[in-house]
Amino acid sequence: MIFSKDKIDKLQQFINGTPKKIVLLAHTNPDGDAIGAALAWRRYLERLGHTTMCIAPNRYPYFLEWMRDIPYINVFKEDTEGKMANFISKADLIFCMDFNQINRLEGLSDTVSASSAPTILIDHHLNPPQEEYDLVFSDPSASSTSYIVYNLIVTLASEEALDYPMAESLYVGFMTDTGNFSFSNLTADLFRAVAVLIDKGINVPTINSAVYNNFSEGRVRLLGYLLNDKMVTLFEYGVAYMALTEEEMRRFNFKAGDSEGFVNYPLTIRGLNMSAMFSEHKNFIRISFRSRGNVDVNVFARRYFNGGGHRNAAGGKSFLSMDETIKKFNAAITEYFGDASSNGNIIPPDVIP
Ligand code: 5GP
Ligand code: MN
Repeated sequence: MIFSKDKIDKLQQFINGTPKKIVLLAHTNPDGDAIGAALAWRRYLERLGHTTMCIAPNRYPYFLEWMRDIPYINVFKEDTEGKMANFISKADLIFCMDFNQINRLEGLSDTVSASSAPTILIDHHLNPPQEEYDLVFSDPSASSTSYIVYNLIVTLASEEALDYPMAESLYVGFMTDTGNFSFSNLTADLFRAVAVLIDKGINVPTINSAVYNNFSEGRVRLLGYLLNDKMVTLFEYGVAYMALTEEEMRRFNFKAGDSEGFVNYPLTIRGLNMSAMFSEHKNFIRISFRSRGNVDVNVFARRYFNGGGHRNAAGGKSFLSMDETIKKFNAAITEYFGDASSNGNIIPPDVIP
């Protein structure tokens, strides 16, 4: 990954020199990548002498609680004293990590929009709105934002600049955003970066276990229930979906992050290329989309559910009831995939590369 010398120079102008107050923002429902990228970048900025604050709009999943640097993540929703809003209002510089639309900050959007501090984007989602930022480090071919942060640190300084907690944070980002190194964009350079992180002392099986074998009993039972009782398959379109209601969340002692990854399971079924998961929230339904190959859920999420993301992983929202949302989804599927025959491998004409 190569960013232009001009961009790197501009970044250096922002972060070299007098100490600044710097905010690092992660997106709503922060995942391992948003958290990992923010924590590693935070350490680098602190080392340059800056005062930093990492802020996520809401709480990170509990299976990241073991991370060495997790105490540095501040949760805006839990900011009873206005400490975070105050820091943002006085900030000299803001970094947006792992998202590119300010509306993905939900409750934090207004506070951030009100700030006049320069804003720098570090992200790997498609279609960044360049005009909204003072500087953009966007690489949609990067498998994670953490991998972009890795490259920035190595470019600005060297591998020597990476310490153990940075390596741990970056590895969590690499691992979680690639589905444990199983999705696309797995380059040789990515694995060379992993080798560097291992040299810094991270233990791959320990981190793997800390993230993936650390769930509550409720989560595993909920998964079983959803797959058995709730999953709907539309083989004629190669599509499956599941819906999770608030009542079901209560029944299974749901905690933030418990449904993370559920949307991937239907894609382990032969003949299915797209999966959707609907989760009921107080005022809206959150939707996660995953796909395989050329089926483009980024386009689908943008077109029908006011969302976006990547070709094979995207999300969106619906403000209709669950029943109406599912009705809309079914109609959207019919329109998007056209009159399907039955091979489950249909590729919408507009997404053939
Ligand atoms: P997840 O299903 O894990 O919440 O999200 C999958 C991917 O889609 C992530 O890369 C996430 O950043 C992106 N995404 C999720 N929800 C939204 C949304 O509402 N808008 C946009 N633009 N991207 C989203
Ligand atoms: Mn990411």
